[in-house]
Amino acid sequence: MQIPFLSLKSITEKYSDEINAAVLRVVNSGWYLQGNENKSFEENYAKYIGTEHCVGCANGLDALIWILRAYKELGVMQDGDEVIVPANTYIASILAITENNLKPVLVEPRFDTLEIDDSLIESKITPKTKAIMIVHLYGRCAYTDKIGALCKKFNLKLIEDNAQAHGCRFDDKRTGSLGDAAGHSFYPGKNLGALGDGGAVTTNDKELADTVRALANYGSQQKYVFKYCGRNSRLDEIQAAVLDVKLKYLDGDNVKRQQIAKYYYDNINNPKITLPKRIDDRNNVYHLFPVFCEQRDDFQQYLKDHDIQTLIHYPIPPHKQECYKEWSSISLPITERIHAQELSLPMSPCMTMEEAEYVVEVINKY
Ligand SMILES: *Cc1c(COP(=O)(O)O)cnc(C)c1O
Repeated sequence: MQIPFLSLKSITEKYSDEINAAVLRVVNSGWYLQGNENKSFEENYAKYIGTEHCVGCANGLDALIWILRAYKELGVMQDGDEVIVPANTYIASILAITENNLKPVLVEPRFDTLEIDDSLIESKITPKTKAIMIVHLYGRCAYTDKIGALCKKFNLKLIEDNAQAHGCRFDDKRTGSLGDAAGHSFYPGKNLGALGDGGAVTTNDKELADTVRALANYGSQQKYVFKYCGRNSRLDEIQAAVLDVKLKYLDGDNVKRQQIAKYYYDNINNPKITLPKRIDDRNNVYHLFPVFCEQRDDFQQYLKDHDIQTLIHYPIPPHKQECYKEWSSISLPITERIHAQELSLPMSPCMTMEEAEYVVEVINKY
């Protein structure tokens, strides 16, 4: 049995009739940007997430960049201000901060939850701190009441990086509606993925939404009138139409992921393999299923020899990347341990139980 990490072809095939019809509708409409498909998807996605506004943009990195840039244009932040962010995240969360001439303040995660350690945040807050960016990494909700309370107490913006957690909840709210603004990515491999790049910002703040929309459209709110030095960062109509189809199936696909995850949690039983702390399925949409192994590379090779494809998320932490040379001497032991030991098991809404059974059987024999 060959087990792929994730087969995008199978995911698209499942909905191919509707996706093909949606693409063809756009092709034949003669209208390819800033039209009814964007309008419809933005309305549906805002409703799904539970915010008043959704603004489509070119990708998830831009979504985060535009949120911070809009806060600068609105006078909430200025060059050199600090944004608290987990040290173990995909580089995009941090690039969005440095791109805006803001300073990322890296905070260690907890090894058991993999999410930012909220007990370490308060000591990092300075008069320059303007925001906390939480990242719902691996599909796990990173929000805690303590983080919400810190934002209130110190008057900080709460920004969510929801690139990996479409559909995830905290109590009765969805991630992406918990803070002041959220960035979403529709990169093909994400839980809600386009057939190419795509992204969005969700917020209840109309002024912020209007500013983000302008920034992603050359800085313009009125044709040929430029209020900001923006960029061209729009979501195109074909992607919006595809996303509108796939949004209807997101909750069902997340349930499939949760069934695979339940099987992994209930049956992986090997002292060499550590699983992350199990949390309620409401709070986890299992974008990835990370496990930890001290001999990670050997374990990965063993799985490969048994035709099981895995990936590492991520092999090098942001503070050890060449683009952030200035941080190379910082020590962040928990982050470094996660990056040294993490391995993501096959996980997708198209995975069968037989495939999950085979993966577990092979793991338990390691
Ligand atoms: C994918 C991802 C992004 C960036 O999204 P793109 O659409 O690829 O630009 C940002 N943050 C996290 C945590 C991600 O996983």
